[in-house]
Amino acid sequence: MSSMLFDRLAEQLNRLPGIGRKTALRLAFSLVDHPELARDLAEALNETWAHVGECTVCRNLTEHELCDVCTTRADSGTICVVHTPADMRAIEDAGLYRGRYFVLHGFLAPLDGVGPDELGVDRLRKMVASSTISEVILALDSTADGEATCTYLARVLEKAGVSVSRLARGLPPGASVEFADSLTLMQAFEGRQRV
Ligand SMILES: [Zn+2]
Repeated sequence: MSSMLFDRLAEQLNRLPGIGRKTALRLAFSLVDHPELARDLAEALNETWAHVGECTVCRNLTEHELCDVCTTRADSGTICVVHTPADMRAIEDAGLYRGRYFVLHGFLAPLDGVGPDELGVDRLRKMVASSTISEVILALDSTADGEATCTYLARVLEKAGVSVSRLARGLPPGASVEFADSLTLMQAFEGRQRV
């Protein structure tokens, strides 16, 4: 079998994280076999791409200017800083934290051109200054990049006069927040240490 369009579809699917060549082909065949599913998926992709953006305060994903969390938890005195919206989802699903968030959408990587501006550090500082925030929890992966970003943010935020803590016990070296199980996340939250 050979179709340029089909091959292109499989190649695009193959670019997604966690999708190898074989899985990409299986997904592509499945989409060809199920036109209704393909149509629904295409529509969801188009609409998401057209309407989903970042919250102007915390950089969480939203279709509005302010995300749900910023709207409903405006009084919370705590901000939990995470790497990605997926990490935020993992913490929410574990049900162990009900404060506000700030999403970095990356880690510091000066060689790749990712600095404080790309992570929205100024916006985070503004969020801390403009509300009744008393604690910032740095809930970042315990990888080298995560640690470096954590250390940098702790230094910046301490100057803003807010208590800064970081996840500690429970999250083993090299672990990512997104894939940690609820119990591990809970231990990491409860064992957070001031920096
Ligand atoms: Zn928000």
